[in-house]
Amino acid sequence: MSNQIEVLVVGAGQAGIAMSEHLTARGVPHLVVERDRVAERWRSWRWDSLAANGPAWHDRFPGLEFDVDPDAFASKDQVADYLSAYADKVGAPIRTGVEVTSVRANTGRSGFAVETSDGPIDARYVVAATGAFQRPIIPSVVPADAGFDQLHSVSYRNPEQLAPGAVLVVGAGSSGVQIADELSESGRKVYLAVGPHDRPPRSYRGRDFCWWLGVLGKWDAVAPPVGAEHVTIAVSGAHGGHTVDFRALATSGITLLGRANAFVDGALLLGDDLRHNIAAGDANYLSMLDEADAYIERNGLDLPEEPQARVLGPEPDCVSNPIRELDLAAAGITSIIWATGFATDYDWLKVDAFDDAGRPAHSRGVSTEPGVYFLGLPWLSRRGSSFIWGVWHDAKYLADQISIQRGYLAYEGATEAASV
Ligand SMILES: Cc1cc2nc3c(=O)[nH]c(=O)nc-3n(C[C@H](O)[C@H](O)[C@H](O)COP(=O)(O)OP(=O)(O)OC[C@H]3O[C@@H](n4cnc5c(N)ncnc54)[C@H](O)[C@@H]3O)c2cc1C
Repeated sequence: MSNQIEVLVVGAGQAGIAMSEHLTARGVPHLVVERDRVAERWRSWRWDSLAANGPAWHDRFPGLEFDVDPDAFASKDQVADYLSAYADKVGAPIRTGVEVTSVRANTGRSGFAVETSDGPIDARYVVAATGAFQRPIIPSVVPADAGFDQLHSVSYRNPEQLAPGAVLVVGAGSSGVQIADELSESGRKVYLAVGPHDRPPRSYRGRDFCWWLGVLGKWDAVAPPVGAEHVTIAVSGAHGGHTVDFRALATSGITLLGRANAFVDGALLLGDDLRHNIAAGDANYLSMLDEADAYIERNGLDLPEEPQARVLGPEPDCVSNPIRELDLAAAGITSIIWATGFATDYDWLKVDAFDDAGRPAHSRGVSTEPGVYFLGLPWLSRRGSSFIWGVWHDAKYLADQISIQRGYLAYEGATEAASV
């Protein structure tokens, strides 16, 4: 491996690939290193039946369409293949199987000393394109030796993988609801702990919610609404895409629960927040319909009315009379799936680019350590930042910032020029 490089991009998921495209467009020499394979997360960190959350016409880079019906939801393998094909198309210089183990600022000169599993690299700029989904989080609620198989959603593949018995799924974002639904359909008894969530309509008046969020300017929101920082979004591209409806999940046999707070003497203690969370999710759903109707009227669009979208089913008994304490063994539960999200992992990035709480300190990805950039983080610049179409625009901005910095360094002032 040549050990001098202008820009080192760490990670070859969608973020690293987009970064490479924009650096190439500006003629900036760079190298992308990836410890596993291109688009590894889509290959080995997703369950078998996962489909993209957005339709193929939307969940993609501008420069390449999916080889599927534009309104279809690409499978996880199709997404992985798409990203690999895109990396080939833009000629991304990627070295796979190379892990970055440390990045430190040089002393007395610009740039960074990078240690990798394949030897050292000297890089003038470093882009951390490892994203937000690095370390699966399992809250310490149920002890590991409590007698249940406990796994994070990244390790879930399919219902057959689990021991016979009922399943507790904790977390009702896109992963939790889809996994719970699949397990229930396979004949399992399923309990689903539901936290604060948004559940936009999959489609309304003939347009997918990705379109609605686009025209309503919501993908471009620069920060989550105050108080909604921890609200997850529950959407599904399974079965050709459908609205996540907790009433329908309950009707299909899933028992909804509140927040999983503690585990005492074999019983899971559940928060009193289920009804509130369902109501807040409904309010979010209905408010999107209102905004969509207003947009249609304002712009005089001829889109079919859909009054039935406003009809919410009856409140399920498990919501009206929520379980507050569940004896897991007595309920027949043998497996617990934690669909509780991810943390970043920047242990390798040993520079001054983090705040006191250890979070990346940056403005639109330009970190507080000159020369270090972050890409792929949720809300890096806007709501769309961690999604495939959003990261492309953030990468473009960072490539511009790097080009601007290179321009300054290339400048030879009158004094220097005269002395040559
Ligand atoms: C279950 C799930 C479903 C999702 N579905 C969608 C969807 O349908 N549509 C959408 O737009 N988004 C979706 N997302 C969100 C997001 O698009 C994906 O998580 C995507 O994989 C993020 O891409 P990334 O490039 O930022 O990070 P990653 O895909 O995580 O890529 C980072 C890469 O960096 C590598 N790496 C990490 N550390 C190092 C190191 N030290 N040295 C070298 N390499 C390293 C990793 O191996 C990895 O390949 C989903 C997320 C999840 C969790």
